[in-house]
Amino acid sequence: MPLMANQPRQSVYDLTFPALASEMSGLATVHAKVLWRTLHREAETRLSERDDFQRPLRQWIEDRMGSSGRFYLENLELADQSESSDRLTRKFLLRLSDGQTIETVLMGYNGRHTACVSTQAGCAMGCVFCATGQMGFVRHLRPGEIVGQVLHAQRSLRASGREGLRNLVLMGMGEPLHNYDSVMTALEIISDRRGINIGPSRITISTVGVVPGILRLADEQRPYHLAVSLHGATEADRAALVPASRRWSLAELIAACRTYGEKTGRRIFFEWTLIAGTNDSPVHAAQLAKLLCGIESHINLIPLNPTSRFSGVASAGASTIEFQRVLREEGGFPSTIRQRRGIDVAAGCGQLRAEKMR
Ligand code: SF4
Repeated sequence: MPLMANQPRQSVYDLTFPALASEMSGLATVHAKVLWRTLHREAETRLSERDDFQRPLRQWIEDRMGSSGRFYLENLELADQSESSDRLTRKFLLRLSDGQTIETVLMGYNGRHTACVSTQAGCAMGCVFCATGQMGFVRHLRPGEIVGQVLHAQRSLRASGREGLRNLVLMGMGEPLHNYDSVMTALEIISDRRGINIGPSRITISTVGVVPGILRLADEQRPYHLAVSLHGATEADRAALVPASRRWSLAELIAACRTYGEKTGRRIFFEWTLIAGTNDSPVHAAQLAKLLCGIESHINLIPLNPTSRFSGVASAGASTIEFQRVLREEGGFPSTIRQRRGIDVAAGCGQLRAEKMR
């Protein structure tokens, strides 16, 4: 069916399977399943060259996805890429159809791969140590632009003869809960078993503390892991690093986390960027243990990734281990010291884009 006047074309990757099946309702359901599998499981980019489709599907693609059709096959263009010296981390700078660029990171560990994707171009949250926060907000990504990053990572893995993706983290550029509806649609597409099939238990949404979004996740019983970036355990300490805490105070955030834990029964991952002399002392660790008392938590300790506009430096290894000891002994909290991956490819969120812009 050709486009109606003033009707915008839509990326076929914005559609969930039920939405695609509804668009193809004049055809047998098998055709929607074949197209879905081709787009999402095989990550095919050249539909017109496929000679294995039956005639009704070929005709639908020609009518609906041709140059005057309602849908188009969106392809995120690779603007730049880099690989860490240990070859375990690859970072892609992808160009969107309006020229904006976003980052996607692919990390390998013990033969398994995790994609870290962006949910916005830029970010409105303004965390002082983050290159994306330093550039400001540009716009939200559509579901298809989030899905497209995962497909790009899949293709890159396959091209180098490696296995498919196992895990997905929404920790790239942007605040996922600030773009809630698009993110939830994208995750429904990405976790669909007929396509990309990254199950909800292997997906983590990372937020800087958007309280309404956390409460909505709990009310809607969304089955994904939740990671909350804290970085400070008093209102003043956190506000110095995370401007968003002026909108949603630490007290409100912790209350929302308690509600989330009670409603979902899920453990929450708390992220703590360790900055030497700022938030890495045993006193800070004891404050954190007290703050999280009663919340089922796992704490990820992340030595700071250096950025050009923030003068802080990563904590020394001894401080990190001492911080971990206090968390364990004073609060009984498990924690993991996260490796800083791909510093030589500017793998911290927004860094490759910032370097490219410069
Ligand atoms: S750390 Fe995350 S929430 Fe904070 S500015 Fe960067 S992208 Fe935004």
